Amino acid sequence: MRLIVLASGSSGNSALIESGGRAVLLDVGISARETMRRITAAGGSDARIEAILLTHEHVDHVRGARVLARRLGVPVMGTPGTLQAAARCLADVPETSAIRRQDRFSVAGMRVTSFPTAHDASESCGYTFESRNGHRIGVATDTGVVTPEIAEALRGCHAIGLESNHDEKMLAEGPYPPFLKRRIAGDRGHLSNAAAAAALGTLGWKGLSHVFALHISEQNNTPASARTALAKALRQTAALETVARNEIAGCGL
Ligand SMILES: [Zn+2]
Ligand SMILES: [Zn+2]
Repeated sequence: MRLIVLASGSSGNSALIESGGRAVLLDVGISARETMRRITAAGGSDARIEAILLTHEHVDHVRGARVLARRLGVPVMGTPGTLQAAARCLADVPETSAIRRQDRFSVAGMRVTSFPTAHDASESCGYTFESRNGHRIGVATDTGVVTPEIAEALRGCHAIGLESNHDEKMLAEGPYPPFLKRRIAGDRGHLSNAAAAAALGTLGWKGLSHVFALHISEQNNTPASARTALAKALRQTAALETVARNEIAGCGL
């Protein structure tokens, strides 16, 4: 089983989750062409992509979904609220498939669980993916807080992708207008380094081998600050990677 983070941050988010030669794309927030280029660059092009799963309708998560779904001939899956809110961006995709915000279903041979995230979108969610041999990958981004449901979903995952969006001090002292600062720091905004670290502190276990700090703000954070905050919380020996804009990162389980 592999997780390849193809893009992360406000300029675009996408990840490939692959198991046994079959794969799903989690969000396509960069162009279809760039998504495929990065999959090839990361050595993931041998996997057959069978679906695109959306976390929510914001453009940094859906930008390339329509073109790529058409090109690959695969369904786009998401909650009814997400599919409705993204309807214009998903016109004439081969198929849309609605899942519930807290759901269990199979796709590309993996057992997928969806869980609600706390974000200013219609009906946002995160996902965990479990392979046939019991490896689990969980990804939670675009959430103002780590709710008990999110923590529960990520507990026991072997690899975790967790939002580490901003350093609270950098955001507070930074150039953004007050309304935007409030939005980002709010309960339905984006996760701070401190909040991500606090959550991670409760999620460590011996099977956790990889943690990816995602959706790192270019304006209100640095990969180094995110790393420092998360590394402190990560008492286990799991590898920690901060994924900055235009970086590709991945792990195999
Ligand atoms: Zn968002
Ligand atoms: Zn986002």
